[in-house]
Amino acid sequence: MSEAKHPSNIAREALKRLAVRHLAPTPANYQACYNEIAELPNAAPFPDQALRQIAIGLKAKNGRQEKELVLLDAAIGRRSWLGVQESLQAFIGAAGVAVEAPPVVTIALPHELAVKLAHFVESILPALGDDNERVTALSGELVQALRQPTVDLSLVHGRLAQLTHQVLFAAEEQVEIKGALLKLLHLIIENIGELSLDDSWLKGQVDGLLAVVAPPLTLRHLDEMERRLRDVMLKQHEAKSRSLEAQAEMRQMLGAFIERLAMMNESSASFQSKIENSARQIENVQRVEDLAPLLKDVIAATRTMAEESSASREQLKTLQDKVLATEAELVQLHRELDSASALARHDPLTDTLNRKGLDEALAREVASMQRKGTPLSLCLLDIDNFKKLNDRLGHDVGDSALIHLASVARRCMRPTDTLARYGGEEFVILMPDTELEQGVEAMVRLQRELTKAFFLAGKDKVLITFSAGVAQLATGEPGGGAIKRADQAMYLAKRAGKNRVMAG
Ligand code: GH3
Ligand code: MG
Ligand code: MG
Repeated sequence: MSEAKHPSNIAREALKRLAVRHLAPTPANYQACYNEIAELPNAAPFPDQALRQIAIGLKAKNGRQEKELVLLDAAIGRRSWLGVQESLQAFIGAAGVAVEAPPVVTIALPHELAVKLAHFVESILPALGDDNERVTALSGELVQALRQPTVDLSLVHGRLAQLTHQVLFAAEEQVEIKGALLKLLHLIIENIGELSLDDSWLKGQVDGLLAVVAPPLTLRHLDEMERRLRDVMLKQHEAKSRSLEAQAEMRQMLGAFIERLAMMNESSASFQSKIENSARQIENVQRVEDLAPLLKDVIAATRTMAEESSASREQLKTLQDKVLATEAELVQLHRELDSASALARHDPLTDTLNRKGLDEALAREVASMQRKGTPLSLCLLDIDNFKKLNDRLGHDVGDSALIHLASVARRCMRPTDTLARYGGEEFVILMPDTELEQGVEAMVRLQRELTKAFFLAGKDKVLITFSAGVAQLATGEPGGGAIKRADQAMYLAKRAGKNRVMAG
């Protein structure tokens, strides 16, 4: 066999051809390209539609045949002739050896359950996307069968098994689509970042966005992403319009500057001609008395010139000052944007949310809790004797202790929990889908974790403890109300001897 006809070369070529012709990478398309390159007669495309029709027409008479029908469906999905052949053979074989009793329906499906099942099937469909004809057809048949006055159990059984199989495929596909969308988003954001590398503010935002655009893809994540993107767009818009204004100002100033220069030129030209004129007249003067008025003219012209140029100098100075002020204002604006982005929602020391970030997250969680009717608990914790730690080991070590606490807390929390720095050495943790008791347990776990994960100040192991109050939001209670209750509980924990968690 020549080198060019080696199967691996043909396979590679076939893949290339698929890409060049922008064909969907289906087995049938791949086969067609492969055959073309290998100069093989082109086999007919896989007749999946026709095979499915046949499969639907087959009625299982026993459990084994039912199983084979599911396998047949899967084989058609994989476009595997071998699979189709095997399952069909097994299906026929199973009919012959059908020693088991025909599917005797001993219990009828209660009507209420059938209706619920039909409703369930209908409600999962939107989650699977509406572009899967097979799922739509199977579920249609299933729902119809379930809504009959007398439900044909064996039909329901068979369709349910086939649908389950399809749903599995469809769900896997949804996961892949999600992953692909995330990748795409990553790519877009990275590109935005590369386009504006010189803008440190935007770069900070883009880095933040990239950190958020990571699996798992939850509604919380998407929400955070949306808010950050909106921030980026808003701030960019602000900066752009201010820059445009400043540009217009600069242009105006430059215009005035040029006008002033032209005027100076004009007056110095007229000064020059006046002086030249006077010089000529002075040359022709015969008598000294005639010189005096000429000199007076020269002095007057010189004085006017001096006054004008001093006025021009002043005007130019004012213009220059204005330009410098505008420039400084722009620099300041950029600096403010930089820090606004960093300070907007995050505490720079511990990289947790700050008060503003907490307010927003709390509002979001309260709304979600009301919408879904799920519990929401929150905890307020305050490090014990932190002042002493600062006094003993220094403020920088105190800072590191705060960072340590935040990182241990993050490790213990669920991905849906939110950590925020409430004040100096106080933190708030929002715990959605959590009852009061579980919230208290979570905080006790964090206490235990902190005693295990020692904080190292140089070589010294320092034990950090905290006192905490936990509160579960009551229906209709504002988020701030629950924080207040947690704060009171925390205070009681301090009063009771610190290093403990109390429910509020
Ligand atoms: P208690 O157990 O009753 O809470 O006592 P405490 O010493 O922890 O509380 P207190 O409110 O008396 O002191 C809090 C200290 O936290 C005082 C302040 O200097 C320190 N602090 C606040 N913010 C920071 C920070 O960002 N870094 C550092 N290192 N210390 C901070
Ligand atoms: Mg405190
Ligand atoms: Mg304290």
